[in-house]
Amino acid sequence: MRIEKVDVLIIGGGAAGLAAAIEAKNTGVKTLLLERDRNTGGVLNQCIHNGFGLHVFKEELTGPEFMERLWEELGNLDEIIRNNYTVLKIDHINREVITLSEEGIVVFKPKALIMATGARERPLNALRIPGSRVAGVYTAGVAQKMVNIYNRLPGNRVLIVGSGDIGLIMARRLKIEGMDVLGVVEIMPEPGGLIRNVVQCLEDFNIPLWLSHTVFKIHGKERLEGVTIGKVDENFNPIPGTERYIEVDTLVASVGLIPQNELIENFVEMDPINRGPVIDDLMRTSIEWIFAAGNNVAIHDLVDFVYEEGKIAGRNAAKYVLGEKLPKPKYIFKRGNNVGVLLPQRFTGKEPFKMYLRPKKSLEKSAILFSGKVVRKFNWKIRPSEMIDLVVRNFESLPNEVLVEVNKID
Ligand SMILES: Cc1cc2nc3c(=O)[nH]c(=O)nc-3n(C[C@H](O)[C@H](O)[C@H](O)COP(=O)(O)OP(=O)(O)OC[C@H]3O[C@@H](n4cnc5c(N)ncnc54)[C@H](O)[C@@H]3O)c2cc1C
Repeated sequence: MRIEKVDVLIIGGGAAGLAAAIEAKNTGVKTLLLERDRNTGGVLNQCIHNGFGLHVFKEELTGPEFMERLWEELGNLDEIIRNNYTVLKIDHINREVITLSEEGIVVFKPKALIMATGARERPLNALRIPGSRVAGVYTAGVAQKMVNIYNRLPGNRVLIVGSGDIGLIMARRLKIEGMDVLGVVEIMPEPGGLIRNVVQCLEDFNIPLWLSHTVFKIHGKERLEGVTIGKVDENFNPIPGTERYIEVDTLVASVGLIPQNELIENFVEMDPINRGPVIDDLMRTSIEWIFAAGNNVAIHDLVDFVYEEGKIAGRNAAKYVLGEKLPKPKYIFKRGNNVGVLLPQRFTGKEPFKMYLRPKKSLEKSAILFSGKVVRKFNWKIRPSEMIDLVVRNFESLPNEVLVEVNKID
């Protein structure tokens, strides 16, 4: 068993991990990034549509193009990146990271660690739909990988479950590749993804969207033969008489992403709503030498935000290694009315920083309030599917515990 010492160790080579590596490496500390896949890039590899990088590079790039920009920024990749390294365990007491690779078990001893493990997909089974476990049922990510990376179609006639951005993008992708896309069913009364994606991926391709609908039953014994869909009431109970049979050989489930935190959730303070670690504005977790960034902290809509977080984590992890005294968090954000995802939850009060949040429910006209004080107004409809970013400044006037609310205004 080999033991390696390193200054900043990054787990995960998606956009967050690569951005963290760029920043840490630029300070001159010994930086290493471990990626379990044979390539870095994470989900960027399979997202061949454009819409990446508008904030960061002021251009609309595809996922792989965005990834290449990060590789260029990073420079000598071989020195910094180890592909095919899966992290199995973190021993936080002894500060050891245990990995498995072709070289066998290698143990790393980092001075600082950055978690950038991204998210995994929720499987369709989580919805407990009656029927057999037939072939032809895929998660959106797996279907996307088949089509965009392996050049294979999953079937001929497909129904998509879930209208988040990934479901919408896959509906368009499969249609362009020649499948009959029968529609997208969404259990909520509103689409789960960005409105621009509803227009560009469904309306422009005449793909129907059934809101307040779900799959009641899966038909078929070995291969999927069809599904029964129907309408649900406001408590998501099936409404009898609304059933309709649709003949399909493929079902693509896009029913949510779950931040991946199995490696740290037993010893780091976790946020039950974000399903990621509680972090401060330096992207530091409750353990001072462990930082985190990206979809493992909370699910983000835009890679630009993930990239910015990765850079903050990389910069501060390097400062920590170099012995710079990082300020401790002084203020706490607490969730109030209509606040879902919220990060960071703590902040040091040292410089302006970005805060991200999602409202729990849609509002036509609204405002964000910090302990009763309006800090931003919206004259357009805000929705849970669109993450709001907000630069926080002038917090000297705020109490140490800031209640964040998203309220309706006239
Ligand atoms: C289908 C889809 C479409 C999207 N479209 C857009 C868009 O148009 N515009 C936009 O801005 N954003 C878009 N996004 C969002 C954006 O791509 C993501 O938010 C971002 O790329 C996530 O980066 P990440 O680094 O947090 O996670 P990931 O890309 O998931 O990277 C995490 C990495 O960690 C590795 N890893 C995990 N566990 C371990 C372990 N134990 N050991 C070693 N390695 C590990 C994984 O293999 C993976 O490579 C889209 C996302 C998806 C899924």
